[in-house]
Amino acid sequence: MNHTALIIATDQNKKTQMVNHLSATGLFSQIKPLKSSAALFKHLKSKRTDMVCWAIEPKKDQTSWIDKLHADEQWHDLPLIAFAEDQQGLISGFQLGASDSVHVEIDPTELSARMNRHLERWQRLLELRKSKEQLQQLALTDPLTQLGNRTVFDSSIKRASACMQRSGSPYSLLMIDLDHFKKFNDNYGHQAGDTVLRAVANAIKTSARDADTCCRYGGEEFAIILPDTNAVNAEVLATRIHRQIARASHHQPAGRMAITVSIGISCADQNGAADPNQLIEEADKALYQAKNNGRNRSKTWQPKCFSPRLHFVQTVAPQLVFGT
Ligand code: GH3
Ligand code: MG
Ligand code: MG
Repeated sequence: MNHTALIIATDQNKKTQMVNHLSATGLFSQIKPLKSSAALFKHLKSKRTDMVCWAIEPKKDQTSWIDKLHADEQWHDLPLIAFAEDQQGLISGFQLGASDSVHVEIDPTELSARMNRHLERWQRLLELRKSKEQLQQLALTDPLTQLGNRTVFDSSIKRASACMQRSGSPYSLLMIDLDHFKKFNDNYGHQAGDTVLRAVANAIKTSARDADTCCRYGGEEFAIILPDTNAVNAEVLATRIHRQIARASHHQPAGRMAITVSIGISCADQNGAADPNQLIEEADKALYQAKNNGRNRSKTWQPKCFSPRLHFVQTVAPQLVFGT
């Protein structure tokens, strides 16, 4: 079978004996004796491992690497088999945290049956972990656009706010809303509308940096959280998004009405909003202004105290035609 086992034993004879034992089970395609327990973690990081077998050595302290293994969530349940020479060694194996403790002279059929059981359990655990990861991914992803959903948005903005308060570095929020999208749906149907939403999501994703969190906020609204980003740089991203949507339109079915977005920008620093809800409210207000001022543009919310004339900083985007 296609399993990999590692062997830890300082005594060369014991090492050879254990390699022979494991080979006889027919369960492993690879059996790798390690020079010491220090090599274990390097190996675990880089290669697939299904079992670790180690020789109990009565006078040696073997607890540190086992404790480290057990403290690691990824390796906590990796089958760990102790090979002992007497009853005290067998007991020590369990006391040290082995999944199983076997005598070095164990009957090969019994060893094979025991190991098979441990390997099956490990495989099942790996499958369960994978399903859990997939479910977690599904629970956080918007199915239409594959962007993060509202749950991702909520946790991400809280995290960015906490970081800003710790580091003092500002973070920004972009709220993006499609212009006259109801009309588009009415004219061309919901399915065509869905295609546009996917294209806009893609334009947003490709415009943002890896550190930014792009989410579908709801309906035809998107949000981006930009850690370590001031308002000026957030405006740069907004302009890039307007351009990217224009570019994306060339890949869409021809003859469609113009698709544009309006963007509201708010920025939190230590002098301004600390509460994420306040930042959302400010971005919403800026978005509302962008809509009222003619759509297809970005607005940045500015605290009134700066200057009444600077209350909104406007970036007018080029007219974008979705399809030609
Ligand atoms: P405004 O420029 O003021 O934002 O106008 P609007 O028409 O975009 O705004 P409104 O809120 O009136 O309409 C939003 C539209 O978005 C209506 C709804 O059908 C559409 N929409 C929301 N979610 C989806 C979706 O998942 N798929 C499609 N195709 N359309 C959606
Ligand atoms: Mg809307
Ligand atoms: Mg809209």
